[in-house]
Order: sequence, then C-alpha cells, then structure tokens
Amino acid sequence: MKSKATGVRWGASVGLVLLAMIALTGCRTRSFLSTKDEINLGKEASRQIEQELRVDTNSADAERVRRIGRKIVEHTDKRDLPYSFKVLDSREINAVSLPGGPLYVFRGLLDLVGDDDDALATIIGHEIGHINGRHAARQYSSSTLTQLLIVFAPIGANAQNLAGLGANLLNLKYSRDDEYDADRRGVSYAHFAGYNPAGITRFFSKLEKVEKKQGGSDPEFLRTHPLNQMRIDRVQAILDNQNFRYGQ
Ligand SMILES: [Zn+2]
Repeated sequence: MKSKATGVRWGASVGLVLLAMIALTGCRTRSFLSTKDEINLGKEASRQIEQELRVDTNSADAERVRRIGRKIVEHTDKRDLPYSFKVLDSREINAVSLPGGPLYVFRGLLDLVGDDDDALATIIGHEIGHINGRHAARQYSSSTLTQLLIVFAPIGANAQNLAGLGANLLNLKYSRDDEYDADRRGVSYAHFAGYNPAGITRFFSKLEKVEKKQGGSDPEFLRTHPLNQMRIDRVQAILDNQNFRYGQ
C-alpha cells in the first residue's frame, strides 16, 4: 500500500523557494545552500508535511521524543539550529529529518522500539547527524536541484512539474557514506548525552526481524537509511573502541 507520507506533495511555493535559492546563487555545485537557505527549506517542507500527516503533540510519546531530542542537542557539535522534535501519527517504521532542524519520528518506529530509550536516543541522534552533516542539502545540490533547473528551463514552466518533490525529500535515500557519518554522529551524541549507544544495535536487529517477517519488504526506515553488514560492523567498531568523534 502506498504510504500516506509518500503522497505528500509540495506546492509551487517550495519550488519558488528553491528557485529563489538557485537564482540567488546561480550555482549548482554542492554545498551551495547557506544555513539560512536550509532552515527556510526545512520550514517550508515541515509545513507541507504537517498538512498531510497528523502531528501528535500531547501524548507521552511526543513528550518523550522532545525530551530525548533536546537532551541530545545539548551535546552535539552544532546547537544553533532551530531543531524541533515531533511524532507523526503514522504506522510507518520511519524517522526523518529536514534541513535546518525539523525532525520527525513516526509512531510505527516508536512501537517497534518500545521503551528502549537508548535505542531511541541513537535514532534521534542519527537524524540530527543528517541535519548537522548537511547530508540532504548536499543531495539536493547534486540531484534534485539539477532536475529543478531542467524543469524551470522553459520560462513559465508548469508548477505541476514540481509535484512529487516533497516525496523526493521525505523519501530521500541517503548514500552509504552519509549513513556511516550519521551513525557515527548518532552514537557519539547519544553517548555524550548519557545514553548507552549500544541501543542502536538492538534497533538494527529489530529492523532486520521486521524485514524477515515481511518477506524481504523493507521497513520504510531501511529504504531511506539503507542498512548493510558494513554499516552494522562499522557501528560495532565505534562502540567497541569507544571512538566517539562528535559531540561533547
Ligand atoms: Zn540515515
């Protein structure tokens, strides 16, 4: 079944934001988005996502995600972004972050994690890692924005061409290197915030069990954050060597 999240559509306004960025910078090489651009982009994307999916603001889960998120941010290497930590009422086993600060944990993931705060802390840390590592922004620079340049090449291009851009962002598949980087940041942040970062390996095991039970159909988290043995091994090596490079 097509998830509701993948159906999130961006309006022309996001396209205009991006177009403005392109026009201002006139450059399509990587890392051309300023921090301010990233914050604006993330804000617009979160507005659109929250129009499509219900945000749970009052439950114990919502409070738990906010509490852990804020605690972790205090221990990261970059704390001046407008982070937000929210729960989306969706059965998807997923977590996503947007450039410049917004971070969402899906209820399906919370159900899978159960009361394992150490695991949840590493997942939230991983998502903060994507934000702080500017991984999404780099990917837009190299692919999505290039596509946008093509879309907008003819003057007066139909805004309909931008439909699906939001889904691109929500379902952005990170590269292996970005996953390693986000894992390293995530377990480091969780460690410095006082959690046991070994929680991440319990989460990986649970994901693999779900995958097997579903007959090879990946939980959404695995589609956007591909997991392979190398990733598991690398995380284990960081844990074994207590090699926490990021955070304080
Ligand atoms: Zn990831």
